[in-house]
Amino acid sequence: MPSEIPTTADYIIVGGGLAGCAVASRLHKGNPGKSMILIEAGADPSGHPLTTEPLHSFAAHYSDLDLYSYCSYSGR
Ligand SMILES: Cc1cc2nc3c(=O)[nH]c(=O)nc-3n(C[C@H](O)[C@H](O)[C@H](O)COP(=O)(O)OP(=O)(O)OC[C@H]3O[C@@H](n4cnc5c(N)ncnc54)[C@H](O)[C@@H]3O)c2cc1C
Repeated sequence: MPSEIPTTADYIIVGGGLAGCAVASRLHKGNPGKSMILIEAGADPSGHPLTTEPLHSFAAHYSDLDLYSYCSYSGR
């Protein structure tokens, strides 16, 4: 990660989940000269106990890595 976060880019992708990372990868491969910012709300999970062992992932629901368990939906 750069020490200073750039304020402009050719592409800004919000959300570094599966879809966001796939879009970022495809855009980078198709446009290697273009700049890109990928904004992710969650913490960096690398090295977290729930991400280092595959079977531990089942405990991710309602853990500190699970942002969506704390969301509510209007139903509309
Ligand atoms: C515990 C758990 C286990 C799962 N196991 C499996 C499995 O074994 N196999 C399978 O196929 N699927 C599994 N899923 C489902 C799979 O994770 C989702 O279907 C998939 O991640 C959806 O991809 P996505 O890109 O739509 O959303 P996500 O991968 O959730 O990505 C969305 C990203 O956007 C970020 N974000 C949200 N709001 C903002 C904002 N305002 N600003 C910046 N960033 C933001 C979030 O932090 C998140 O990282 C599991 C899900 C959970 C919760």
